[in-house]
Amino acid sequence: MLDIRKIHVPTPYQVGPVNCYLIRNRPYTLIDPGPESAEGRKGLLAGLTAADVRPDEIEQVIISHWHADHSGLARWLSEQWGAQIYVHRLEKPKLTPGYDKHAERLPFLREAGVPAGDLEEVLNDRDPLPGPLLPATRVNLLEGGEAFAFTGGEIQVIHMPGHTTGHICLYDTESRIFLAGDFILAHITPNPFMTARPEDPVKRVPVLAQYLTGLNRMKYMDIGVILTGHGENIDDCATSVEKVLEHRYKRLDVIADILDGAVLNPYQVMRTMYPAVRGFEILLGVSEVFACLDYLETRGKVRHEVQNGVSLYRHSS
Ligand SMILES: [Zn+2]
Ligand SMILES: [Zn+2]
Repeated sequence: MLDIRKIHVPTPYQVGPVNCYLIRNRPYTLIDPGPESAEGRKGLLAGLTAADVRPDEIEQVIISHWHADHSGLARWLSEQWGAQIYVHRLEKPKLTPGYDKHAERLPFLREAGVPAGDLEEVLNDRDPLPGPLLPATRVNLLEGGEAFAFTGGEIQVIHMPGHTTGHICLYDTESRIFLAGDFILAHITPNPFMTARPEDPVKRVPVLAQYLTGLNRMKYMDIGVILTGHGENIDDCATSVEKVLEHRYKRLDVIADILDGAVLNPYQVMRTMYPAVRGFEILLGVSEVFACLDYLETRGKVRHEVQNGVSLYRHSS
């Protein structure tokens, strides 16, 4: 049986601390070590001390997805203490110097019809954390389907895109523990985040379709408890997955209703749903709307035409 310990590592984000997990079986392994900040290091080291583990005993670090609150400290653990890093290959470009998450999404914000003032707000709302980076060596890329062996058990790697393209979850078949990262949380619905296709960056990844596929996959898995990336564990997997699916389908209905008899750009749809959002939340709102519109369009419910570089959506019939 694996001995999995939860360590709360503080983040400057509204979501609160990130849950880092220590697998206290050899080789000692950390999953999502937390953000690169003085508070982050302190929190992680305190958690390791409480578990009676020294940082130089950490041999492996597994990153669920590239977001700074989860991945930031991986580089330090590798460069300072010699840990091997494991991350899905699709997350690697986001953990590379020069990657700019705003720049990746700028064409989509323009396509959405975001007005100049709001666009400036988004671009000026910078992240309080530095862009996370992988170390130059000791990086191992995952595909999904691999297994990590420990004295006393093993965990399987499952590629679960949606929140990010290279998001992975980890599954301990023996104890039926599912380490979810940000794929599913107890009290918040994770955002399937607007992402450019690696092979064709002017197009978006169908993030919502991917996310719904993952949720449906979880319905048929034998999961006892879900250990989440933030907040509490989820004890009733089936009910939680059902709830998220319901929430997602409701959101699709809301957007379909907004477009009933109307022709609107994604920014206008977003403002109808979230009239008050500002700064980076404008990007999150547009991301949410595009995720739904792309999904509705591939299912023939809506269609769009481009006018002056802005996409206008209407019902198909
Ligand atoms: Zn995340
Ligand atoms: Zn997170």
